[in-house]
Amino acid sequence: MSQQFLIPTYARQPVAFVRGEGVWLFDENGDKYMDAISGIGVCNLGHCHPAVSRTLAEQAGQLMHTSNLYRIPAQEALAQRLCEISGMQRAFFSNSGAEANEAAIKIARLYGNRKSIAKPTVIVMEGSFHGRTMATLSATGNSKVQEGFAPLLEGFVRVPFNDTDAIAALADNQNIVAVLVEPVQGEGGINIPDTGYLQALRQLCDQHDWLLMLDEIQSGNGRTGHYFAYMGDNVVPDVLTTAKGLGNGFPIGACLVAGKAEDVFGPGTHGSTYGGNPLGCATALTVVNTLTDDVVDGVAAKGEQLKAAFLSALADVPLVTEIRQKGLMLGIQLDRPCGELVNSAREAGLLINVTAGSVVRLLPPLVISEAEMHTLVESLSAVIRTFANAQEVA
Ligand SMILES: *Cc1c(COP(=O)(O)O)cnc(C)c1O
Repeated sequence: MSQQFLIPTYARQPVAFVRGEGVWLFDENGDKYMDAISGIGVCNLGHCHPAVSRTLAEQAGQLMHTSNLYRIPAQEALAQRLCEISGMQRAFFSNSGAEANEAAIKIARLYGNRKSIAKPTVIVMEGSFHGRTMATLSATGNSKVQEGFAPLLEGFVRVPFNDTDAIAALADNQNIVAVLVEPVQGEGGINIPDTGYLQALRQLCDQHDWLLMLDEIQSGNGRTGHYFAYMGDNVVPDVLTTAKGLGNGFPIGACLVAGKAEDVFGPGTHGSTYGGNPLGCATALTVVNTLTDDVVDGVAAKGEQLKAAFLSALADVPLVTEIRQKGLMLGIQLDRPCGELVNSAREAGLLINVTAGSVVRLLPPLVISEAEMHTLVESLSAVIRTFANAQEVA
């Protein structure tokens, strides 16, 4: 096989997997790799979780798709379950994270236009990532994602992450309708805001009649130790987007609304042919129930344990300047570009990601065991140590 017929939007690593089980992936030669990135934060229950695979297979044999011209009981059940968990009131289902954010951005615009705001504008953050469609890349705070795609969509104003003063300073701007923010920035380098940040944003939004819109596409579905990250902060957003871990590998996203945003969308204002079909919703419902029944409660402790183990294993490696962690979102900050760690880790049987140039990003499956965490720490620390030694010699 060859990549000749693919549009080369990705610089792919020279490996292909044929089977997955839990935290493990197996390649064509039968070699096994620990997946410490979970298909980019997707397979939170591990690869091929038996309950998820069973639901998917059963539903595929019964009914896959009908379209949103008709009622879909599985979609109603999934919406209800997500609302019970999150405190939100209604859900719209999409097929990806970017599409969930598209829905959020359209809600903000409609909300503003109904209030006769001249040019509805959303406050977005430096270092953010919201997707690759035109609206979501315009919202994204990364010039590499935007480069070459001018003209970008208007209606966004950017401020530094974790800076409530910068947002309060926009209070006089009559065009602001919403704040869009990730509770933990993922692609941006596992950036965790100060305690109280979301509460301060909630307060500002209430004060100015803005929508608080949280992008939990990466931080949701148990990843940070709460089902959604904001649930640890005693706030409820007006708009909430999620995807990645929601389907554990089945492509599905959701945009949930509450409060001021509950009745913005009505018939004819938004849609998706596939979004929320029986196959995706039945599968996601099993994912959500498995996460809440058996998994989410253990995530905070696992994350703490992993951070402590890395801190101790890497204590004498000065290249490592900080370890940031919330639940099982971990960022190991190095003092220099370290993209090559991805290859050396893979050669050692470990799949990781490097983001923002110098941050090793780990998003292991939430079902990772104690022994597997030990293997992860041993193996990654050895790889980082080898990298550090080579830098000294060079
Ligand atoms: C991955 C991600 C997206 C985009 O999701 P896609 O499914 O790739 O479209 C948006 N926001 C955040 C925070 C993400 O991590």
